[in-house]
Amino acid sequence: MTTATCYGGISEIGGNKILIEDKKTRIFLDFGASFDLLDEYFVEYLQPRTRFGLRDYFALDLIPKLPGLFNEWAISKTDVEYKEPEYHGILVSHPHYDHIAHLKYVDQKIPIYIGETAKNIITSVNEISNTSYLNEKPVYMRGGGTIPPNKINMFRTGDKIKIDDIEIEPIHVDHSVPGAYGFIIHTSEGTIVYTGDLRRHGTKPELTSDFIAKAKQSDPVLLIIEGTRVAPEETRKNYSESEVCLRGQTLAKENNGLVIAMRYPKDIDRFRTFYDIAKASGKQLVISLKTAQFMLSLKNDKALALPNPFVDEFIKIYKREMKIYKDWEIPLLDRCVDWQWIKENQKKIIWEMEFFHLTELIDIQPDAGGVCIHSMSEPFEEDPLSQLQDNVMQSWLDRFGIRHEQLHASGHASMDEIFDMIKEINPKNVLPVHTKYPKLFENCGKNALLLKKGEKFEV
Ligand SMILES: [Zn+2]
Repeated sequence: MTTATCYGGISEIGGNKILIEDKKTRIFLDFGASFDLLDEYFVEYLQPRTRFGLRDYFALDLIPKLPGLFNEWAISKTDVEYKEPEYHGILVSHPHYDHIAHLKYVDQKIPIYIGETAKNIITSVNEISNTSYLNEKPVYMRGGGTIPPNKINMFRTGDKIKIDDIEIEPIHVDHSVPGAYGFIIHTSEGTIVYTGDLRRHGTKPELTSDFIAKAKQSDPVLLIIEGTRVAPEETRKNYSESEVCLRGQTLAKENNGLVIAMRYPKDIDRFRTFYDIAKASGKQLVISLKTAQFMLSLKNDKALALPNPFVDEFIKIYKREMKIYKDWEIPLLDRCVDWQWIKENQKKIIWEMEFFHLTELIDIQPDAGGVCIHSMSEPFEEDPLSQLQDNVMQSWLDRFGIRHEQLHASGHASMDEIFDMIKEINPKNVLPVHTKYPKLFENCGKNALLLKKGEKFEV
């Protein structure tokens, strides 16, 4: 018997936790955190007590109470008793929070299968920002107790993963973070295909096409597919990555004031786009110390082929004036530029800035006539915090006479593209995940499974 059960990612964007059971073998596809489940009970500083492991999450049904899945530390303060693992592996599609954030609670004997580049990105983020979604080393909790390191198995495209009798082919896809994969899973009852998150308008659409072709060849009984942009109407303007680059060049060239650019930190394609915009418009790209360190730590990943920020003539690194610097920042400081340099060179740069650093504008006092290229999602109507942040950002930009330009390429395929993919792959059944509107998949031309959270589908 082969089944699929979603413990997260149903009627919500993110939080994917999809269990595949084939005879006695149990594997999870992704193990992420939900973006909005927590919002029901938590806000601002009211947050789950991490020192108690999964106690608060279990009590509020935020993580499924499954015996034989979690490590001893995670459940030590809960009413679940520790059992030897009853799960045989977790496949990670890509290194985004909503696909990986709960891996640290998983029993250290259960292997985590993850792409090489994805693992490198997680390692760098862990080092720089002190977060740990995937543990490579033991984490000693201040309140006592140790979170054991995960068992990590890395793969690349072309590898075949064998878990008991299940064989899995990881196939690269294009998404807004490098190292993203979909999976073709060969079970005793037929093939199951999982897309992870994917798009066709990024810098490497051929990866996604490759995945679709291989998925089609495998003649799947079940296609588990993302539907982030499957919605009754699309109100957001979405560009392709190359349109972002072209429009960005025009903005940078026609603007004779300061150019600010904002993007998601792990979106390396967008970094490259900003870099290309700077080069094409005869400007230098100014990045943060954090971004510089992130790039340095990924310099050995040949697939990424990132420029060295300390020697590249088109890159400058900005240091904010701080009372105390972090250990990793100290050796880099004398190779950075400061606010005086930015002020003097404001017409010759594209300055990557994050929302939380808008206060730097007070030191620069930019000349009027600048532009801010906001290369991230527009605020979400359902998310008051994102609206609030957007209003605050607008006040800062208005104050300094900076124009706001929305210019973003989504990490996800459009509804039409998703439905075309389904037609092309031609599976017997479709399980929509990572979408607010699974019901819309009833129009996809195939049998759409509208499962509830925790409901089993028998293949
Ligand atoms: Zn993603």
